[in-house]
Amino acid sequence: MFAFASDAEIVNTNSNSGAVMKKDGYQFKQFGNKYFVRVDKDMEIVSVLKEICKENGIAAGEITGLGAIKSVTFGFFNPETKQYTEKTFNEYMEITSLVGNVSQKDDEVYLHLHMNASGKDYKTIGGHLVNAVVSATSEIIISSEKGSVGRKFSEEIGLNLFDF
Ligand code: FE
Repeated sequence: MFAFASDAEIVNTNSNSGAVMKKDGYQFKQFGNKYFVRVDKDMEIVSVLKEICKENGIAAGEITGLGAIKSVTFGFFNPETKQYTEKTFNEYMEITSLVGNVSQKDDEVYLHLHMNASGKDYKTIGGHLVNAVVSATSEIIISSEKGSVGRKFSEEIGLNLFDF
């Protein structure tokens, strides 16, 4: 038999943690500079993250996550044409990796996210994340930093590059 600690024995010593913020379709709690986010079924991940960053004044940070989705649109940037092509996949998939950063452009929150996801054949697809809809749940951590990172469009590259 395994022994488990009871809930009462688990003590959160992080005095820097805030209240649980419950919204329509998602909730989050802040621990120091980190926001632990739960995104619920049928919610679109990118718009939820954007809303949290906007409402909490996060203008520089890092994002990691996982979860289960039922649809995703990936972008692929062609450096020669400087254009994105997009493709949508409507199937149940596991998010095997969600990574990205938070910055700011023209005083608006600017998220740059990439995602890998695997379907029932366990094969992974991925790319620049345009949007993704949750099928069960998604667990995401936003690590915020003080200050802000800007963006500026580069004619040469065709993308909005970090602008410090
Ligand atoms: Fe990208």
